Amino acid sequence: MNQENKGHLHPLTLIISDVSRIFSELGFDIAIGPEIETEYNNFDALNVAKDHPARDMQDTFWLSKENGLLLRTHISALQVPYMKKNGAPLKMISSGKVYRNEATDATHEAHYHYTEGLVVGKDISLADLKGTLNLFFNKLFGKDVEIRFRPSFFPFVEPGVEIDISCFKCDKKGCNVCKQSGWIEVMGAGVVHPSVLEHGGINPNDWTGIAFGTGIDRLAMLKYGIDDIRLFYSGDLRLTNQF
Ligand SMILES: [Zn+2]
Repeated sequence: MNQENKGHLHPLTLIISDVSRIFSELGFDIAIGPEIETEYNNFDALNVAKDHPARDMQDTFWLSKENGLLLRTHISALQVPYMKKNGAPLKMISSGKVYRNEATDATHEAHYHYTEGLVVGKDISLADLKGTLNLFFNKLFGKDVEIRFRPSFFPFVEPGVEIDISCFKCDKKGCNVCKQSGWIEVMGAGVVHPSVLEHGGINPNDWTGIAFGTGIDRLAMLKYGIDDIRLFYSGDLRLTNQF
């Protein structure tokens, strides 16, 4: 059998196993949640307002609006059930598919792969977030990268941040990967909102948490230099045979 005809792991499978291995080494549990979720776990428990546009038919695939069943729009839907089951302290990551009802193009698909992490402990802060993610990205890209935070908003964290890493390809000199800026946007994160901890049965006066999430497709596109997200789902063996 020649090399071409052997089975190959899909690049998304490779990245998910890399991510799981790195976080396992950092002491995280690997959790798995269902792709069909309740409106409560996906939105209400995470502080997403009733009239938030994300709940709209345009953005969410509803299975039954009456029964509040949907295809999860983010892995965060697992946070509150996981907190209820495991209590504090905890360190967890989960990877899997999420669904968004949107038009597809080179950087958008109707489903993506995401990894999201949650840490709850005593005096956990943005400093822990920065340290943990710095280790993670250094290992993932095999290079020491810098991390910077920019203020942002997500309903389930306060404060929320967007995270950029210094470009692993050009070391901040500017190239096509970082669109000449020297930085690459890789993740949304923040300090878990006290009401989310409460929904998870954890007392926010005693515990604090950090949460972070990143698109696996995007990480794979960056790491392997793939410029069209649709290639991952095309079944084209010319892609997978390279891995
Ligand atoms: Zn660059």
